[in-house]
Amino acid sequence: QTSALSISAEPEAQSPPGWVRVALDVPVPGLFDYRVDRPVRVGQRVVVPFGRRDLIGVVVDLPAAPALDESKLRDVIRVLDDLTPLPEDWLRLSRFAAEYYQRPLGEVMLPALPGPLRKPSSYDGLRSGDGPIARLDERAGRADAAVAKAAAKEARAAEKAAKAAEKATKAAQKALRSAEKASKAAIKAGQLEGKDAESDATEAAAVPAWVPVDNVVDAPVDIGADGVTGPSVDSPAGLDAPADGAEPAGPDAPADSAEPAGPDAPADRAKPADPDAPVDRANPTDPIDPTGSPIAITRPILGRAQQEAVDALATLEGFKPVLLHGVTGSGKTEVYLHAAERVLAAGRQVLLLVPEINLTPQLEGVLRRRLEATAGKDGVAVLHSGLADGERLSAWLRIVRGQARVLVGTRLALFTPIPNLGLIVVDEEHDPSYKQQEGLRYSARDLAIWRARDLGIPVVLGSATPSLETWQHAESGRYLKLSLPDRAQAAAPPKIRLIDTRQIKLKEGLSPQVLTAVSERLARGEQSLIFLNRRGYAPVLHCDACGWVSGCKRCSAYMVLHRSAPQRGGHARHELRCHHCGWQERVPPACPDCGNQDLQPMGRGTQRLEEHLAELFPTARIARIDADSTRRKGSAHALFSQMHAGEIDILVGTQMVAKGHDFQNLGFVGVLNSDAMLFSHDFRAPERLFSQLMQVAGRAGRSGVASEVFVQTGYPEQPLYQSLVKHDYDGFARYALDERKAAGLPPFAFQALLTAEAPELAQAVGFLAQARAESEDGMLEGADEATRAALARITLYDPVPLRVVRVANVERAQLLVESDHRPALQHFLHEWGARLPALASAARVRWHLEVDPLEI
Ligand code: ADP
Ligand code: ZN
Ligand code: ZN
Repeated sequence: QTSALSISAEPEAQSPPGWVRVALDVPVPGLFDYRVDRPVRVGQRVVVPFGRRDLIGVVVDLPAAPALDESKLRDVIRVLDDLTPLPEDWLRLSRFAAEYYQRPLGEVMLPALPGPLRKPSSYDGLRSGDGPIARLDERAGRADAAVAKAAAKEARAAEKAAKAAEKATKAAQKALRSAEKASKAAIKAGQLEGKDAESDATEAAAVPAWVPVDNVVDAPVDIGADGVTGPSVDSPAGLDAPADGAEPAGPDAPADSAEPAGPDAPADRAKPADPDAPVDRANPTDPIDPTGSPIAITRPILGRAQQEAVDALATLEGFKPVLLHGVTGSGKTEVYLHAAERVLAAGRQVLLLVPEINLTPQLEGVLRRRLEATAGKDGVAVLHSGLADGERLSAWLRIVRGQARVLVGTRLALFTPIPNLGLIVVDEEHDPSYKQQEGLRYSARDLAIWRARDLGIPVVLGSATPSLETWQHAESGRYLKLSLPDRAQAAAPPKIRLIDTRQIKLKEGLSPQVLTAVSERLARGEQSLIFLNRRGYAPVLHCDACGWVSGCKRCSAYMVLHRSAPQRGGHARHELRCHHCGWQERVPPACPDCGNQDLQPMGRGTQRLEEHLAELFPTARIARIDADSTRRKGSAHALFSQMHAGEIDILVGTQMVAKGHDFQNLGFVGVLNSDAMLFSHDFRAPERLFSQLMQVAGRAGRSGVASEVFVQTGYPEQPLYQSLVKHDYDGFARYALDERKAAGLPPFAFQALLTAEAPELAQAVGFLAQARAESEDGMLEGADEATRAALARITLYDPVPLRVVRVANVERAQLLVESDHRPALQHFLHEWGARLPALASAARVRWHLEVDPLEI
């Protein structure tokens, strides 16, 4: 059909008969024309035939003439009118995201809608006007009806109770009046409350099969020399950087990255391309209950820096990106709340993006309590990928209809139509979870900046360790920088010390200093946290006799040794698991190569560490929080609650414990094995490491406990660690940016990554080589001026295999494209990207193009 991405400027009605141009979520680029015999508007949804299926699409244009011969046009099956047309600014955002990230428009638009609104089956056999929205409203109506019925019953009782006829009549009249009034109130309230009550209940009860925290969190082990890396292709969550201001061509957004190498990444590749897709529902993690963790209900008196930040935000008008740089515990949330209240008081809506709602459940409670005063009862809606369809639809509708005024959500919430948006806040803007790692590989943070610019509203990016892209923009004056240098509550920041492991003998990976600190805290009744970002028992099983190691048969990665939960009446068993493809197998009784029966675990993961600590501190209560220990529903909640309640003395944890939780009685944090990330092949690894360590350190000393953090390292002189000891983000950023500048890396360059997958590496590399050649000759031939100019600013590197080249028997390679000029890169990608499908299908490879990749 047509590939034109044209969208008319104003939603307009068309008189029938006519044609509609529709965006569909299909793996075919372009838009699709249909004939329609009813009036339709741009932004309306339609059911159309596509191949042998029916699909729901969004009308993006009303062309004067169809792009196809009229005889080939098919008819729109149904025009859906249960929703006001999707607003123009939402269409602009979608179009921008599709163009910028080089994906079909339908792949942006449709996944952004709640499931029931994009499934034709929701409307099958229904009369016009019926459907999921009508059902939801009807349920709300039934709630009203129930209220009215109760009132009527009251009326009857009153009637019966009345003795005197006159009195009875009067009472009945009165009761009927009140019934009528109640029913009216209920109808009105029902639009807000009936279904909200329901959705709240479900939100609370159905604790989400939520983002596989594990995937996002622990670092994976790969077969590469430096030990710890993320699978480059599949990690489920990611984050990225922002934008700048001037040119229309780029969100300006830059990429950045601290990301969590998805360690555990997801074995499955057949993921849906939903913006919120990456949820692995088979792997539920429960939200953590705030019990035990203090919730600010009252409104604290702002500190000086907070007040200055609030005042500065109050003066903003129009588009302005603001970096709120505040150390952990500095009270950034309070600043967001004040800014939000102002915007709400002016009658507008607020979007607050957070990385992972399930890790910070307190936040939702705080926001509801605080903002409902201004936003109205049930004025706060929450969206994340763990919600059931109905819950998501209900929250989404409340925002779209303007009934809810604050939307708190994870990255997918960015794509919600918000009719009267006045402020966007991106909390923990550096967090990798803002980057979607498959399908539409977008950065919610970058798009938030684009959206704010498009709407002419402020956007606040908050972080203790901003992405270097954001920091660079703040330093250059493009973003307004506001700082909260101190903790809000008088607690001193933890003292950070480096333990030089070159000088000492470690005992099971633990230095004497760390062991001493743990016993001292134990004696004082304080808690300790040992941070090791590697789950499992040991990263590899090994034969001393012949050198055999436990490799995965399907991947170029080690199988990780895991201790599984003890069977009933039996012992804990060990097994081997591949963190890349999910393969599991029994531990072989003897070396498969030489028969040696004494196979040894090499290195250590959280399970082994927990075991050693139990031997070393037999009276201590020890627990572990990682993706494995929290797999069962409710277990993460239970573990965090125990920690908050002081029922745990020593906690072993991966990155999962680094976020969100303030442990009031935590006096000591020991960090093991962080060096692996120092020398990673990924140029963003140090940035992630610094951010992670600052975050872990921030867990300690929240309440007056004089706290210490010991970091074991073989490289204490490294500038990263030197900055860490001084809590000196600025120093770290200066150094890291100098390095990036010298190397010509982001944020001083803009990148895109073409990745190919095939049964054989040679195929993948062959395709990439062809793609590269295409940019050199194919594209130059007959190129216009602009394309030639763009090409002159583009560098294409050699195709290289991925670190973990084979996953689940598929071999992967990638080609890095770089430019010092974002518009040039965009121009190039559009021309080049259009040529790739033909090349790829000839080479029989799967491929994807990622703009502003986080992991290289
Ligand atoms: P951040 O997000 O910057 O790490 P939080 O917003 O979580 O910090 O605030 C840390 C703690 O300090 C919270 O318990 C919060 O209620 C408290 N707090 C924030 N501002 C103030 C204030 N002005 N006075 C006292 N306590 C405050
Ligand atoms: Zn052997
Ligand atoms: Zn594998």
